[in-house]
Formats: sequence, structure tokens, C-alpha cells
Amino acid sequence: MPAAVPSVTPRQAGRWPRRRLALWGALLLVCLALAAVAYRYAEDAAIDRLRLSGAQRLDTYTASLEHLLSKYDFLPGTFELNKDVIALLRRPGDEALRTEVNTYLERVNRMAGSTSIYIVNLRGVTQASSNWRTPDSYVGDYVAFRPYVRDALRGVPGGFYGVGTTRGEPGYYFAQGIYQDGTMLGVATVKVNIESLEASWADAGGKVLLSDAHGVVFLSSVPQWKYRTLAPLTPAVQKEVEQSRQYFSHALVPLGLREVRRLDSRARIVTGPPPAVGPMLSQARALARRNWQMVYLSDLAPARASARAAALLTVLSEALAIMLVLYARQRHRLGRQRKRAREDLQRAYDQLENLVTERTASLRKMTRDLRDENTVRRQAEQQLRKAQSELVQAGKMAVLGQLSAGITHELNQPLTALRTMSDNARVLIERGRLDDARNNLATISQLVERMGLLTGQLRQFARKSDTMPSAVAVADAVTAALFLVERRIAQERVGFRMATHPRDLYALCDSNRLQQVLVNLFSNALDAMEMAGSSPRQLVVDAGLDGARVRITVTDSGPGIPEEIRTQLFEPFFTTKPQGKGLGLGLAISEQIVREFGGQLRAESPPEGGARFIIDLPRAE
Ligand code: ADP
Repeated sequence: MPAAVPSVTPRQAGRWPRRRLALWGALLLVCLALAAVAYRYAEDAAIDRLRLSGAQRLDTYTASLEHLLSKYDFLPGTFELNKDVIALLRRPGDEALRTEVNTYLERVNRMAGSTSIYIVNLRGVTQASSNWRTPDSYVGDYVAFRPYVRDALRGVPGGFYGVGTTRGEPGYYFAQGIYQDGTMLGVATVKVNIESLEASWADAGGKVLLSDAHGVVFLSSVPQWKYRTLAPLTPAVQKEVEQSRQYFSHALVPLGLREVRRLDSRARIVTGPPPAVGPMLSQARALARRNWQMVYLSDLAPARASARAAALLTVLSEALAIMLVLYARQRHRLGRQRKRAREDLQRAYDQLENLVTERTASLRKMTRDLRDENTVRRQAEQQLRKAQSELVQAGKMAVLGQLSAGITHELNQPLTALRTMSDNARVLIERGRLDDARNNLATISQLVERMGLLTGQLRQFARKSDTMPSAVAVADAVTAALFLVERRIAQERVGFRMATHPRDLYALCDSNRLQQVLVNLFSNALDAMEMAGSSPRQLVVDAGLDGARVRITVTDSGPGIPEEIRTQLFEPFFTTKPQGKGLGLGLAISEQIVREFGGQLRAESPPEGGARFIIDLPRAE
């Protein structure tokens, strides 16, 4: 029986139902949203980690910077303790004293590890300097325009990062007034190189920059970013910086850091100028004492990569989950289908079993019916056989009837002769002619014997025989049959010829029946030739072997058998003879007898005319 297959219309097969499409769309959206959340979450977590490490870096860097600078904070104040410095400021023309102070400054500078130390008088002219021996000695230079000198002259201790106007070397300048008895005599200045910090920042990785109050970057782990500004300078500031020559001749163009997202007051995401690529986390820390700001920039690429990985992982997990769900559904569906198929199979099996039971019952009934039919058929066959046997017997009797006239004549003649001869014998005995009487009696005896032979033959012919086949000598059967028609042959002047090859030829049949067939064929031949008035009349019997078969042919020189009746010859009650002469059973019975012994009886028209009947029988050894 057909399994319950859901019918699919071409329309359904062509595209998905709208509901399912919407469901999958919604699922896709949820998956994407989840992936986006995962991305954002992972990015935030990575940024938090970056912020933590960035803050630590900033702590370390600002601390080390402060530590480095604070070492020198006190140094300018110590020079007012030196009497030579005081003396030089009081007596500016004393060259010996100047050399004394120069040498002193040179020594202190070397010991403190600063870049240079110099003393400036109240007019802003350098009186002594640690670099007095070098060609670019500051001695005699006018430096009052420098903000730190200006501040110090105003009584405010100055601190200032700038690029040197002589050699263009950057450094941090400490400046403080030199006082004696509360009166300012001049200013002591110490320059310290802090560029070495850049190298240590660069070595630690990450990008660091240090900017002044105006936002000018003066130290950076990225060389290209130095002397750039975090934001464009206002014209006033620009002018002020130029006048102070703080950054010598550097053009202070903006760095070009763009804010992408502000995380809070101290952290934001920016995209930077080359060589930075991609967004960076920017964290700022103010160095309040010096009015500076340190900025630490960390590359966001790893954070983004880990966020991407998280999103990918989410997508993969979602895909896996969906696949698992689909797999489970498929399994469930398959299980259901299998169950249904099993049920269908069971149902089919049950039906088959029922069918088999039904068929078996009907088969059994049919067998029973067949057996009954068989019995009926066997009974019918028996009856038929009986009827056939009776028919054969009747046929035989019919032949005998036909022969009876001749036979009566055959018997009457010797009877008349017997009567005459017995009368003669009595007369001869009375006359004493005993020899003649003896001869007469001998003839009588011969006649009686002949009559006995004839009646014996008749009895033999008329006997009911069984149909069990046995070896029958063909020549004997022909002779016996001939005996019954012998008189007609003689009377009607029929030339009879017989040939058997080989002489002892045996057929497997019954001799009585074979005789009956032969008598029939002989009688028919004689009838045909007689009725047609044929001349000359010939009856030829030929018997021989045809392989494993015995073939007996009976040929006459009668009128032959017309083509149109040949097919009807062997039908019962077919006759062309006048009424009272033929029953039309002879050939039918003969054909049946021959067939019963596994043989064949057929008629032929030989080319020379007349009729020929052929008996074909199995050969007996
Ligand atoms: P019946 O002799 O009583 O007619 P048969 O069955 O012996 O019946 O013969 C049927 C018919 O076959 C005959 O009537 C005759 O027409 C035809 N027939 C039989 N033998 C010969 C023969 N030798 N020559 C011509 N016709 C024959």
C-alpha cells in the first residue's frame, strides 16, 4: 500500500512557504544580533583590559618623568649659596671671576647630569655658563625673552620645556632668581635633556606623547608626531609661542588625531595620523604641576580581532546549535517516518497474511474440487472407455453382419456338398464300393475341417479382446484378416499381393484389434472397387519398418478418395455408401484403435490412382 507521502505542489517545491521564510529571516536576525552583541561585549572587555594596562603605563611614565624632573627642581636655588656667583653678578666685568664661575658651573653640570647651567644678570644677559669652553657658549647671550627667564626675573621660579635657540636642542629649563639679602641679583638656569624618555617609551611598545599647556607635542615615542599640536592653535597662542621661540623654528601644525568615540573624560577612541593605522584607544593623564598632559595610545586592532573572533565563535556556535536542532528535528522526523513505515509494513504484512490465508483456503477448496472433478473425470473416462470398447465391439459386429452373407454362402456350399456326398457315401457303401466311399468320407472330413476353421475364425474375430498391447506378428494378423474376405477377393476377381519386410515383423498392439482394423480396410477397398466397377482390381498390402515404427499400407485400385471428403473420413457416421450397406463407423473405430496403441491411421491418394490407408504402430522386438 502506498506510504503517506505528503503531496508537494510545484509551487511549494519552487519556493519556501512565506511563514517558514519569515521564521528563518527572524532567526538570522537574532543570530546576527547575538553576534553583534558578542562583538561589542568582547570589544568592550578588550578595551577595558587595554584601559587598565594603559592606565598603568601612564602611572609609570608620569611617575618616572616627575622623578627625573624633581631631581633638578632644587638645583637653581643652590647657586645663590656660591659667593663667586654673587660676586660675579655684583662685578660683571671681572673676567677672572667669570672663569672661576664658569668652571664651577661646568663641574656642577657634569655632576648633576644636566645639559647646561648658566647664570643670567638682571638685564637678561648670560654672565657665566657651563658650556663656556664650547664655540656656542651662552656667555654674553641675551635670553630675557625666554619665558622661564622672564618669569624668574619677575620673581616666579620658572619651569619650561623648549628648544634651545643656539643649537636647537630641546630640554627642560629650570630658572630661579638669585637673591642676596632679599635683593634679586640675577637668575640661575638649569637645562635638562629629557628626550631619553622617548626611547624607553618606544622600547616598551605603545605610543606615548607629552604635550604642553597649548597642546603642542614636545615628546613622543613616534618621532613624526613631535612638534605637532593636538588641536589647531589659536592665532594669539601661535604668536606667543613664536615670540618666546619655545620650539625654535618648528612649524606647529595639527597632528590630525580624530576622535571616533568618547568613552569618558580621559579615554576616547581616535584614528591617528601615520604611521598609526586603524583606531586607537587614547588615554590622557594631566601632569598638573607642569601644566602638561601625557597621552597613551594603544592599538585597538588586537581588541577588534578578539571581538571578531568572539563574533565568529558566536556565529559558529549558533550555526552548530541550529544544525543540532535541525539534526534533532530530522532525526525525530526520520524516526516518525520509520515508525510509520514500520506500521505500514506491519499492515501490509497482516493483509498479506490474510490474503495468503484466504488464498490457501480457496486453493484448498480448489484442490478438493479438482480432486472431485478428477474422480468424476476418471469415472467419465471409464464410462467412455467402456462405451468405446462397446462401440468397437459393435463395429466388429457390424463388419460381421456385412460379412455374414458371404460367410453363410461359404458355409452353405460345403453343407450342400456334405449332404450330397454323405448320400453318395451311403449308396457307395450299399453297392460295395468301399474305396470310393472312403475317398468320399475323406473329402467330407476335409469339408468339415474347413467349416470348423471358418467358424473358429469368426469366433476369434467376434471375441471381446482386452487392450493390453503385446508383440503381434504383422504377417499373421494380415493372413487372419484376409481369411475373412478371401471369398470376396476370389469372387470379385481382385488381384491380391502382400509383401512384408522383414518377414518376422512385430508391432506392439493387440492381434484381434489389428485384424479388425485390417478387415475394415480390406472391406472398404473391396467395396470401393466393386461400387466403382474398377478394372483391373488390385489390393496390395505392404508392411515394413520406418525407423522404430511399423508401417502397414493397404492400397487399392478403386476410385480413390476425393479431396473434399478426406478430412471427414474418420468422423463417426460418415459414409458415402447406400443405406443398409455402410454405418460410417469403420474408419472412426479403426482410427481410435490405432491411436490407442500409440499409432496413427491416415489416408493418402497415391499418384497412380486409387486409395491408400497407412497404419503406423510402434515396433515390438
Ligand atoms: P462405411 O464403410 O460404413 O461407409 P467407413 O468409416 O468404413 O464407413 O468408411 C467411410 C467412407 O470412407 C466410405 O463410405 C467411403 O466413402 C470412404 N472410403 C473408405 N475406404 C475407401 C476406399 N478404399 N476407397 C474410396 N473410398 C473409401
